[in-house]
Amino acid sequence: MAEDRRSLFVTGLRNAHAMENQAISIIKPQLSRIENYPQVARRLEQHLQETEVQLKRLEDILASLDEDHSTIKDWMLSAGGSMAALSHAMAGDEILKNSFANQAFENYEIAAYNSLMVMAEMGGFQGATNGLQQNLAEEENMAQWLRDNLREVTMEFVSREEAGERAKV
Ligand code: MG
Ligand code: FE
Repeated sequence: MAEDRRSLFVTGLRNAHAMENQAISIIKPQLSRIENYPQVARRLEQHLQETEVQLKRLEDILASLDEDHSTIKDWMLSAGGSMAALSHAMAGDEILKNSFANQAFENYEIAAYNSLMVMAEMGGFQGATNGLQQNLAEEENMAQWLRDNLREVTMEFVSREEAGERAKV
């Protein structure tokens, strides 16, 4: 059976909601472990707070379409996010692996919101555009920050390893 534009958009919004819960489950374990990279900790803390607001924006958009979000899918993706962060914690270069993974995740989010913007346009859901654009802008800022910070975090990592501070995040 053919899906209509509205239901495809709603599915996309629910997926984005699950994606944002996954984001929280990726950021939180990093924040609880980090000790030596205060600039990373500060930016992650800021993005965690932004992500909570992003979830609210998606819930508001879904509510405006008389829909709610799927709890089960959110939970499954959250579990996957925690597992990824945990596997990085077992590695000596945890801070680097998390930096790569965070950059990949932000770019995934950027693609998801750009796609949702197209669906909003195709379905005439102008009421959703503002919230989606705000979420997108925050992901773009975060992705840019991660790109800019990679050099500093790598240099700091190398210095720490040289000083024998193995595997400290
Ligand atoms: Mg996000
Ligand atoms: Fe994000």
